[in-house]
Amino acid sequence: MIARSGLLDAVFPEASSALCAPTLNAFLARGQAVWRPVRARLSNLLAVGNRELHDAGIAERALVERSSVRMVLPIAVGDYVDFYSSREHATNLGKMLRPEGEALLPNWRYLPIGYHGRANSVVASGTPITRPRGQFKIPERTEPIFAPTRMLDFELEIAFVTGDGPSLGAPISVERAREHIFGIALLNDWSARDIQAWEYQPLGPFLSKSFATSLSPWIVPLDALEPFRVEGPTQEPPPLPHLATSDSQNYDVALAVEFSSATMRRAAATPQTIARTNSRGLYWSMAQQLTHLTSNGAGIKAGDLCASGTISGSEPGTFGSLIELTWRGTRPLELPDGSSRTFLADGDAVTLRGWCDRPGAVHIGLGEVGGTVLPAPH
Ligand code: CA
Repeated sequence: MIARSGLLDAVFPEASSALCAPTLNAFLARGQAVWRPVRARLSNLLAVGNRELHDAGIAERALVERSSVRMVLPIAVGDYVDFYSSREHATNLGKMLRPEGEALLPNWRYLPIGYHGRANSVVASGTPITRPRGQFKIPERTEPIFAPTRMLDFELEIAFVTGDGPSLGAPISVERAREHIFGIALLNDWSARDIQAWEYQPLGPFLSKSFATSLSPWIVPLDALEPFRVEGPTQEPPPLPHLATSDSQNYDVALAVEFSSATMRRAAATPQTIARTNSRGLYWSMAQQLTHLTSNGAGIKAGDLCASGTISGSEPGTFGSLIELTWRGTRPLELPDGSSRTFLADGDAVTLRGWCDRPGAVHIGLGEVGGTVLPAPH
């Protein structure tokens, strides 16, 4: 509505064609030289006291209640990569999956580990998640079975969305990586742990992750997060030169996981906050992730999506997945309805929330990403 009105034309003459499309991809392809002035202009138009929307007669149509709008995916997802950047999460998983060995594999401190995920099963917040079937081992049998997963989990993550990169073969330096990142959103990488445990060696996760990934409905531009840019943890050993940076590259984003069972919702019980954490402690920054991704010359396109990996802190209440919160099912989570959980049951709903707050800075809301588990089809 604002783009159509011509109020952005002074900073971006093609606003009405690039911003009235069903997705942001065409806008993302214009790069930082367009993102910055458009954001600054929008911020100015929405500032308290600015009457331009009213004077143009579009205030009522341009500003609508969030609850009255059906949210959709903000981008057509191009390539989707999921990293594994939280040292605490990688250590926890290592301890559970390889109790006999070192929790962190030797490569972990040298490069941001990641895998290519499935772009076309990235879904908008609110989309129901059907319990997947898959192949996994159970203690009673030597052969694997094919059945609905018994260990359905969520993963609390943030994800960044890119603009276009340089041509194929041209890596993006860590100093310039942020220029190619438009902004961030919340992401839930739904995971079937039993399927994952059986399939993940030697090539990494496949069907245990690809059935659904939920994305929050708007992307917060990196420029809006500038007041919340902070130094990350000390990296030891120091990264190789192409991944080394002296700049602050982490973001102080508060994160929370809310849970409600079908029984709790029927009783109108308040959802239970089962974890609180923050992305500022991520070992590998988004800039390092993007630099690593393109360091072999692989290109990026507007609308590519890169997720952080599960974000966990060092205390149990800061873990970003059920497998960690319940320590692989050995410490069940007690719920207010009297039941307990090791992994997700049908009817369970998980909502991830994110926000940035700091004295003197404007509150930034990342919104939420939610989903409810449906039973596996017969
Ligand atoms: Ca993940």
